[in-house]
Amino acid sequence: MIESYSSILKIRRNVFEEVAKLAYEGDYSRIEEIPYEMLKGQAKYRESIFLERAIVAERIRLAIGLPVRSADEHAPISKGIEDAIITKRFYEPPLVNVIDFACNACPTDSYHVTDACEGCLANPCANVCPKDAIRISNGISKINQELCIKCGRC
Ligand code: SF4
Ligand code: SF4
Repeated sequence: MIESYSSILKIRRNVFEEVAKLAYEGDYSRIEEIPYEMLKGQAKYRESIFLERAIVAERIRLAIGLPVRSADEHAPISKGIEDAIITKRFYEPPLVNVIDFACNACPTDSYHVTDACEGCLANPCANVCPKDAIRISNGISKINQELCIKCGRC
């Protein structure tokens, strides 16, 4: 987890650093090259280096103040940049953007038995379950996700 946080922090800082350089130099023509300069060789964080670069490209756009795009939109990173290179730019909603194709859609509302389960005899986790979703199997509790209503009692 700590490594993952460090990785995302590093990428975020690199993106802001590159955007600051572009603004300082006043030359946005090399913007398309930044994902290739930042990410070389093998993929480190995702299944493909191409996906990693596409996500960084969207991060660059967001850092500049441009809207996030979907994976279906074929356009250079710099599309619409003339609207962003202005002296004053006021906040435009949404404040928080999600890069859809960067999201792994991890389940956020499911309950799982951890490695700490000892399959205790009292088995209170199963006793409190209103849906009879917990069974002991191979010495540990297992939750039937089809039955579980995510009440959190266990
Ligand atoms: S998860 Fe259930 S069976 Fe496992 S130790 Fe906790 S209460 Fe006991
Ligand atoms: S979250 Fe609720 S329904 Fe799901 S296994 Fe635990 S007690 Fe049962």
